[in-house]
Amino acid sequence: MTQTAYRTHTCGELRAADAGQEVSLAGWVHRRRDQGGLVFLDVRDRYGLTQVSVSRDDDAASHDVASSVKPEYTVRVRGVVKSRPDAAQNDKLATGAIEIIATHIEVLSTSPTPPIEIAGGDEISEEVRLKYRPLDLRRSEPQDRILRRHRMNRYIREFFDAREFVEIETPILAKATPEGARDYLVPSRLHPGRFYALPQAPQIYKQILMCAGYDRYYQIARCFRDEDLRADRQPEFTQLDMEMSFVEQEDVLGLIEELLTGLVKEVAKHPTDLPRPWPRIPYHEALARYGSDKPDLRFGLEIQDVSEVVKDCSFKVFTGALEGGGAVRGIRVPGGAALSRKEIDGLQASAAEHGAKGLAWMKVTEDGVTGPIAKFFEGSDLPAAFSAEAGDLLVFVADTDVGVVAWSLGNVRLAVAEKQSLIAPGAWAACFIVDFPLFLAGDQEGEWAPAHHAFSAPVEEDLGLVEADPGKARALAYDPVLNGVEMGSGSIRIHRRAVQESIFRAMKIPEDVAQERFGFLLDVLQYGAPPHGGIALGLDRLAMLLSDVPSIRDVIAFPKTAKAVDLMSGSPSPVDVEQLEELSIRLADQ
Ligand code: ASP
Repeated sequence: MTQTAYRTHTCGELRAADAGQEVSLAGWVHRRRDQGGLVFLDVRDRYGLTQVSVSRDDDAASHDVASSVKPEYTVRVRGVVKSRPDAAQNDKLATGAIEIIATHIEVLSTSPTPPIEIAGGDEISEEVRLKYRPLDLRRSEPQDRILRRHRMNRYIREFFDAREFVEIETPILAKATPEGARDYLVPSRLHPGRFYALPQAPQIYKQILMCAGYDRYYQIARCFRDEDLRADRQPEFTQLDMEMSFVEQEDVLGLIEELLTGLVKEVAKHPTDLPRPWPRIPYHEALARYGSDKPDLRFGLEIQDVSEVVKDCSFKVFTGALEGGGAVRGIRVPGGAALSRKEIDGLQASAAEHGAKGLAWMKVTEDGVTGPIAKFFEGSDLPAAFSAEAGDLLVFVADTDVGVVAWSLGNVRLAVAEKQSLIAPGAWAACFIVDFPLFLAGDQEGEWAPAHHAFSAPVEEDLGLVEADPGKARALAYDPVLNGVEMGSGSIRIHRRAVQESIFRAMKIPEDVAQERFGFLLDVLQYGAPPHGGIALGLDRLAMLLSDVPSIRDVIAFPKTAKAVDLMSGSPSPVDVEQLEELSIRLADQ
């Protein structure tokens, strides 16, 4: 099926059973080994590598060509397949049982010495790799990730197709609708002073598609958010966007669980069969037990609340936090007594990143506890509360702000797992976080912003709280979490106009502004909208986990740097003044 005018086989295809066949291959010169009268060429394409042997005695013309080629030339080779003698077989190579005895070699194109050695295993800086991306992508590791990502997309399409989902494209030139992040704007030439926005997500379109009766929609959709970049962010990213009608939360979760479990089993580099059902952990419980809304469940180290145990102790830091309405919580680090002072200081720094003023600690020995605060806890029940054993370390955060306690210990938990190498290579763990709050407090007093987005439905019994006490209302929103990485977010949506209007009122969006911004959704909601819900999964992050690499840049063919620059093409770049004039745009410094 891969046969073309240039080749009968790919460079990964021929086996011992093909011996005797006359074949032609086309590809890149991967390596050349010159043994005087005999030249070996390894010819490579994305399917593999085949050894070609050219002898001066057999074919002087081909030998001349083979002697002159350099790495990364493209060549066409004609020849006969020959089984290699046992001693010369290479088990590591799929084609290692054969070689081609060349009868004709033709150079298709030449190459100077490339800035990246394709065949070499040397560490190459990311900057060089991104600048010379076409060469980098020829290397086997990047190629493996790009191909795995292709298999991920194919799996997704087949999965949804088998379940009656319809793939529908939604506009890239969309309307600016604040969805949380800053929009990328596109000036309209035909309407000077007006702008399209690149979609942050197809959210409203997919809800409209449900109202339009399509029942099940999905799309592998490109989204754009003009945010300051962090390690796992890109200005443009890919979501698996989906929406379903006449569903409750469990319908969506069950389907997504099935999809992700299947991908981890069928596509992952380190596959596993994740046990189902995945735990559904309420948001507040995740914060209390793991200090995170995306807990990494590949290791234990659960946080324990010991406020009750320490409430009458003489250590003022603990009692002061409790009197101020806060909490004292801690983590037992098995074997952690072996950590040095400096290592414990490192954990303290992790706690401080989330606002903790300190990290109290004690070591458990056969004869009781040791460490700076041990004197307050001689003979106390504290080690027993953790079921601690001699050799363990106990670390604590106390604060009047319970959030500070939770998030700080969450960060300590991750730091301990890394320090103690608690995550086994190839380990997987999944869960859903559910029962998110509907709103989070905004910057101004009395200001409320949706925790997910403005279209998530409140839990039915919390409808009355939406305007009366917004901070207490829960949303029918959920996040799948894989290996401590948030894979996406979704929710059951509001399908009644009155409820949507009530959300906008709680957000203090005046009616006319709501109509101006979201009128096209509000209007359709009044014409018989089905109850519906969905989710969007971050495919870059998913591909990153499936390939077991640390950065999403590793799984994007042409990524941008952390400064949002494409080093290969040089975008963003200046444009001609004429081009700007056509768009009725003048730059501030001109
Ligand atoms: N559109 C949402 C987002 O991108 C996800 C969803 O609710 O489906 O975050």
